[in-house]
Amino acid sequence: MSAPRRPKPAAPAAKKPPPAAAPAARPDLVKLAAAYQATSVIPHCTRCTRPCCKLDALVLDLEWRQVKTLWRIEEARQDFDRRLRAGQGPSEIREAHGRYYVHTKPCPAYDQDAGTCRVYGQDVKPAGCSDFPVYEDEGEVIADLRCEAVALDALSEYLRHAAGPAYRLQQRADPDFPFLVTLALKKAGPRRC
Ligand code: SF4
Ligand code: SF4
Repeated sequence: MSAPRRPKPAAPAAKKPPPAAAPAARPDLVKLAAAYQATSVIPHCTRCTRPCCKLDALVLDLEWRQVKTLWRIEEARQDFDRRLRAGQGPSEIREAHGRYYVHTKPCPAYDQDAGTCRVYGQDVKPAGCSDFPVYEDEGEVIADLRCEAVALDALSEYLRHAAGPAYRLQQRADPDFPFLVTLALKKAGPRRC
């Protein structure tokens, strides 16, 4: 009788490689910019000392549909354009290449007593108004420092915190318009010892 064989030790299970760290999700800059506006800009608007809607510093860029609605224009566009060219139209409006640029007088939708926009949340409100003063553009965040509610250091810290350690923040001012500051989140490289 042969001695019972020891069961062969099972081959050690092959070790699974540790799971690769999930790549950090790219921060949603559109959402981050909108959230910054909601928490840090919009609450300040009603007590702003230099409201952008007065259009003394900013220029409003409109399409015809918006001009027609905001200025309550009844006449046809050609007639309105003719009136503008003759210097008889609203002096604050200039037409160029099919668009209308408004400057030097408050926007007609601006309620100066309340410090609010009468077309807030409506389709007629220009996209530029919703974007101002912090918005996403081609994968970067633009901050317009003409708005007194924008605190660049706080905004930078907010973006850094939201993006996490996988990203570093780069900042540059527009050489021609230094009040426009671009904040770009770049993937952080490996840390050096
Ligand atoms: S400048 Fe800034 S704080 Fe002032 S009304 Fe405009 S968005 Fe609001
Ligand atoms: S449409 Fe509203 S937000 Fe835009 S300039 Fe006029 S009042 Fe201001």
